[in-house]
Amino acid sequence: MTESVSQRAQTEIGKVRDYSANNYAPLPLVVESAKGAWITDVDGKRYLDCLSAFSSTTFGHAYEPFLEVLRAQTEKISIASRAVYVEGFGDFAESLAKLAGKEMILAMNTGAEANETAIKIARKWGYRVKGVEEGKAKIIGAEGNFHGRTTTMISLSNDEKARADYGPFTPGFELVPFNDAEAIRAAIDEHTVAVILEPIQGEAGVSVPDEGYLQAVREITREHDVLLILDEVQTGFGRTGTTFRFEAEGVDPDLITVAKALGGGIMPVSAVIGDEDVMGVLTPGTHGSTFGGNPLAAAIGKAVVDELATGRWQRHSQELHPVLFDGLRALEGRGVTAVRGAGLWAGVDINPAIGTAHDVCMDLIERGILAKDAKPATLRLAPPFVVTREEIDLLVREFTAAIEARWAAAQERA
Ligand SMILES: *Cc1c(COP(=O)(O)O)cnc(C)c1O
Repeated sequence: MTESVSQRAQTEIGKVRDYSANNYAPLPLVVESAKGAWITDVDGKRYLDCLSAFSSTTFGHAYEPFLEVLRAQTEKISIASRAVYVEGFGDFAESLAKLAGKEMILAMNTGAEANETAIKIARKWGYRVKGVEEGKAKIIGAEGNFHGRTTTMISLSNDEKARADYGPFTPGFELVPFNDAEAIRAAIDEHTVAVILEPIQGEAGVSVPDEGYLQAVREITREHDVLLILDEVQTGFGRTGTTFRFEAEGVDPDLITVAKALGGGIMPVSAVIGDEDVMGVLTPGTHGSTFGGNPLAAAIGKAVVDELATGRWQRHSQELHPVLFDGLRALEGRGVTAVRGAGLWAGVDINPAIGTAHDVCMDLIERGILAKDAKPATLRLAPPFVVTREEIDLLVREFTAAIEARWAAAQERA
């Protein structure tokens, strides 16, 4: 692949390597523009975008209704800070709270910040409402989680690559195996204020827990007066076929964190959503963010909520779900070992005998499909809502061809 990269692409890649810290290993393509479900590189080659910026561009690129809001709002005011009231923030807060069936929101910018905020709220709630001894609050998380990259969020992680050399870590966390509700019960003590989980672990390779797991966790947390925080940063806003994953699971969390798709593929927008009895512990001066809830973010966030409130995107992704999953599952036993997911979100395990997930991604790039490995043997597919039936057929066709070629080569070697 790298040999076929043009001079223009080489120049960009070289500059990034020279002048940007090396904290990513990007796929070897240089994107110039994008519209809808398609990305175009500097050489004019087009790719069906099945990465969707880790579910940030869930409505596709340059979605016209969001661009209209962007134009209109930037003409009025973009950034104001929360030191003043700006018309529109209230509408955004109301619409997002109602979309989630909750009473209020707190606006931030990134997913990690939303989770940081939820941790702070949960601790404060623990001291002020539950009556936990000052400084002792404990929060339980799941192994394999991804909640962001800040020092506190990696303190809650067991990913050694994400943690190495960044200690000392924030205390007050305990990890238990994912998909094991009894382990949560056993870990709860008198200092426990919250359990934080992704309803489906995205970075772990679209790891879907057993049916009933989240409901069991909800019962256990209620029994012990412990908050349930669901990190819907990646699963939220229709990615899994319902507006939020907790709906499909039939659970009512105390706090929900959202980000990624809330920014409409245009800018970072995040929030914590909850009821007044928990969110109400915050008072002026105790938490904040210069950019959190800025007028532009509020306008775009409101537009995203309005799109989802119609339900048509959720229906569209549910309709396309079987097309994608039947296509992928047909490869099980022939180069693919497992397919997991919901809605338009799939984790595909690749048989190591045919290569790594990254190898398959490189083949897919050659075939005009953009996707990224989540783990060495797991590839994640997340096409945007604007994708058509024909484009899902194309994805399945190219994916199948890529896997079949590797499977045939592996059979020959064997
Ligand atoms: C991406 C992600 C985050 C972090 O979001 P950032 O905006 O990158 O800080 C947190 N939780 C989950 C589940 C995510 O997928």
